[in-house]
Amino acid sequence: MLDIKVTRTTSPKAKPEGPLGFGRIFTDHMFIMDYTKGKGWHDPRIVPYEDLKLSPAAMALHYGQAMFEGLKAYKGDDGKSYLFRPDMNGKRTNTTNKRLCIPELPVEDFVQAVKAVVKEDEDWIPTEPGTSLYVRPFIIATEAYLGVEVSETFMFIIILSPSGAYYEEGLAPVGIWIEDDYVRAVRGGMGFAKTGGNYAASLAAQVKAHDDGYSQVLWLDGVERKYIEEVGAMNIFFKIDGKVVTPMLSGSILPGITRDSVLTLCREWGIPAEERRISVDELIEAQKSGKLEEVFGTGTAAVISPVGKLRYKDEVMTIGGGEIGHLSQKIYDTVTGIQLGRLEDKYGWRVEVK
Ligand SMILES: *Cc1c(COP(=O)(O)O)cnc(C)c1O
Repeated sequence: MLDIKVTRTTSPKAKPEGPLGFGRIFTDHMFIMDYTKGKGWHDPRIVPYEDLKLSPAAMALHYGQAMFEGLKAYKGDDGKSYLFRPDMNGKRTNTTNKRLCIPELPVEDFVQAVKAVVKEDEDWIPTEPGTSLYVRPFIIATEAYLGVEVSETFMFIIILSPSGAYYEEGLAPVGIWIEDDYVRAVRGGMGFAKTGGNYAASLAAQVKAHDDGYSQVLWLDGVERKYIEEVGAMNIFFKIDGKVVTPMLSGSILPGITRDSVLTLCREWGIPAEERRISVDELIEAQKSGKLEEVFGTGTAAVISPVGKLRYKDEVMTIGGGEIGHLSQKIYDTVTGIQLGRLEDKYGWRVEVK
């Protein structure tokens, strides 16, 4: 158990009015805990949200020794505050930390810290349908040193950002650009870790896709550029001839918590769900023979993002006539139903913040 010291702000901010959007508004408080080699994690505290004081030589700024997580706090229909599977974010933090030589953090401490800071700013959780308080835990290497080495000091910080509904008018299908030049990650690299470096590597392709009117990039494997990996900040699923297929966790893709939830639900519903390699050729073939029934991305922010259009080189595939698939809608309704407390939570995914 962490002994968290709380210093409250003396000048609480006005709550935002109007559309919240995503990621630009922050609450009154944040959680911080320091790490020092030889001493371990220490001084867990909740303090007023403010700019950090950091050496310009802090290692995270130069060599990218940094990680992040993302989850949501939201109001259930009963008016209580909830998180969705926060222990999974805690476990994934340690998977990422190991890869980046960042000291591990007990999962219980991670969950306790998230709950404590969300509880502190609970009145910042928006209540309109679909809105939430986005929770962003992250760790940065803070040692002031320009040598390329493992930092001896770190900061674990959690900030909170009230967010608008991802879909204002129901699930909307997106257009996706299958990138055949740049790659995001390779096996043996850090594709499975939630770290900023992977995102830095993704921007050039994202700019290219946006310029062409596509909202996200679908990555192919870094070796043969033949097998499907994942989309921007989402895992990807295909429904082909009655079966659900998603790329297996091979080390170069992010093990999404939404991905895991979707696989669990499909299996519960008796829908065959395969985790395996899937080539872009297989996809094109399935599309041509009319067997590609649905494509959707999965991630915390959107839960489900139906894909209506896929572009690969000169080929543009329209999926399901650009409409939302039956399974995509069912998964969305089920996950959000469990989150809000409208459906039975068989797996104990919903965790109350109290
Ligand atoms: C966070 C993330 C996802 C989605 O993970 P969830 O746990 O479902 O939110 C997928 N891909 C990448 C690259 C990510 O960073």
